[in-house]
Amino acid sequence: MVEPRFVLETHMRKTIAFFFLAIFFLLTRGMAQQSGKKGIDRSMLDPKCKPCDDFWRYATGAWADKNPVPADLARWGKFDELSEANLERLKTIVEAAAADRSATGDRKRAGDFYTSCLNPSGDANLLKPEFERIAAIQNRGDLAAELTRLQFDDGLGPLRITDVSDPQDANSVIAGINAGGLSLPDRDYYLKDDQRSKTIRDEFVRHVNRLMPLAGIDHPTGALVLDFETQLAKATLSNVQRRDPYQRMHKMDFVLLQQLTPSYDWKAAFESAGLSTYLPVNVSEPEFLKIVNRLIDEAPLEAWRSWLRWRVAKGRSQYLSQPFYDEWFRFERGVLSGIEKKQPRWKVCVSSTDQTLGEALGKLYVEKHFPTEAQRHMQQMIANLRAALGEELQGAEWLAPDTRQNALRKLATFDARIGYPVKWRDYSTVQVSRDSYLANKESAVRENRKFQLAKIGKKLDRTEWTMTPPTVNAYYTSARNSITFPAGILQPPFFDMEADDAVNYGAIGVVIGHEMGHGFDDQGSKFDADGNLKNWWTDEDRSQFEKRAACIVNQFDGIDVGDGLHHTGRLVTGEAMGDLGGTAVALRAYHRSLGGKPAPVIDGFTGDQRFFLAFARVWAANQRPEAMRRQLATDPHPLAKFRTNATLANMPEFHLAFACKLGDPMVRPAAEQCRLW
Ligand SMILES: [Zn+2]
Repeated sequence: MVEPRFVLETHMRKTIAFFFLAIFFLLTRGMAQQSGKKGIDRSMLDPKCKPCDDFWRYATGAWADKNPVPADLARWGKFDELSEANLERLKTIVEAAAADRSATGDRKRAGDFYTSCLNPSGDANLLKPEFERIAAIQNRGDLAAELTRLQFDDGLGPLRITDVSDPQDANSVIAGINAGGLSLPDRDYYLKDDQRSKTIRDEFVRHVNRLMPLAGIDHPTGALVLDFETQLAKATLSNVQRRDPYQRMHKMDFVLLQQLTPSYDWKAAFESAGLSTYLPVNVSEPEFLKIVNRLIDEAPLEAWRSWLRWRVAKGRSQYLSQPFYDEWFRFERGVLSGIEKKQPRWKVCVSSTDQTLGEALGKLYVEKHFPTEAQRHMQQMIANLRAALGEELQGAEWLAPDTRQNALRKLATFDARIGYPVKWRDYSTVQVSRDSYLANKESAVRENRKFQLAKIGKKLDRTEWTMTPPTVNAYYTSARNSITFPAGILQPPFFDMEADDAVNYGAIGVVIGHEMGHGFDDQGSKFDADGNLKNWWTDEDRSQFEKRAACIVNQFDGIDVGDGLHHTGRLVTGEAMGDLGGTAVALRAYHRSLGGKPAPVIDGFTGDQRFFLAFARVWAANQRPEAMRRQLATDPHPLAKFRTNATLANMPEFHLAFACKLGDPMVRPAAEQCRLW
């Protein structure tokens, strides 16, 4: 990892520079402690690129040139550097657990799970019981029964019951029915006509036809599987449509659900899950349910059997012996993301333990790697960010008093969660042995499904987390109105107890602002302070807000990514709004933290310059072209370059800090600049 260091530039040694520096230090003596902190590491910069031409390149170019994507990854950036460093730490922890024969409880479970993964021997025999059940499907009733049983699996079937917050009463957990069943990353992969999409579909058919013989099914069924899933894809909402919570809200009672899909045995599904049929249900995509019903009635049983066998084989392939894993990797990682080389097995197994027993491993991780001072410092920063966003809302003159009050109330009730959950998940019912990786995984999946289903009909548990503590990321949830920062992201270059405030506010400060921003983005703004999907805007304010969001949609629609590719503005709106709002709020919070004193100059950079450099540095990254295409098609996050440049092109504070002028590529004309508040 590239550590920022306090380095004086040679040219600063000139007498005149020293003179100004001396005057400056005299003026800011009260901030001696602050100026002793680390500033920006110049070794990442590309001095040949002007900051006002391409700030991302200027701030991270030298790093990017020295850091190509490793053969076993799809992207390599500062995020990934941290994730890799965390994998090493987790490896030490889990290997120690595995070596300790006296380990008990979660530590033993994590060590045994990891060991079972290192050299899995499972072959086609382990799929036999599933395949026999599928072969026994002789009529539509058998089919309905098998689909019911599959809901305890990890999303193999097209439909399943899951736990969701009631959109109108976030405190109640109700049953949700979502659309599933696609093996490719998104509906567009089935429906688009460009050459690249067609090639991927051909490769998919080949993949099915290579994997199934390993599972003991010799006749080629790839084309049939693709055709079956294409019918599902046609009835699935696009990822842009899915961003609108109102498009996903279709609350109904059990009778209506059954009328929508008369051939699906919901009664058995609810009973086997131990659920009352008196509870309300939210169906996210009713049209999809109609198509599934039609397929249950009309698709040839052989098509269903082939598809179900494929879904079982696909779902299990990563957990079986080498030939299965190799074919899984060739398509999922190679064809879809362009990754050339498999990861060393230990990395696969550490990641898998994190995904499967995340809080068991996470508890051991935070004991070693999360100091309590970090928690305190984060709380201070969050308090400052909250106050800064409050000021922005107070200053947004276009908001009617009622709307402003509602927004302030939402801000005041943000639940900030830092490091790790207050209550740890109990894995004691998961059966883990050193013998079978697949059996361990199946047990974990089954117990996890039971855990989810048991929440339905109860009050929302506000303490629960959906990311594991070592994860290098952060998130906002609208139902809980919470912002969450796992321990994994609270380290350099995001968060550094040794760094000066400008650097911390530019990095983790923007992350905090970004997550707060999700509470007010195109989706989050539709939920109130209690997490309910309920309008709290006047019509006039809402239409003003929509205009501000549309500014960002237009900006991203207009960005040329190269290679004939472009961003979809309506897919990335929320994330881009989070970035713009988050950066503005974090900068304001940084200024507040100075308490009226001038910011120190460190390494020749002003406070604001360090803030923006620290922001850009977080987005240092290289990416494979295949992974970039996949991100553009499926991911609501813009590419790293545009998260940096498109955000800053809207900010006069940035233009001022680097003396950028109208006409420079990093400057959008004032009339076109997007602003949230
Ligand atoms: Zn986000």
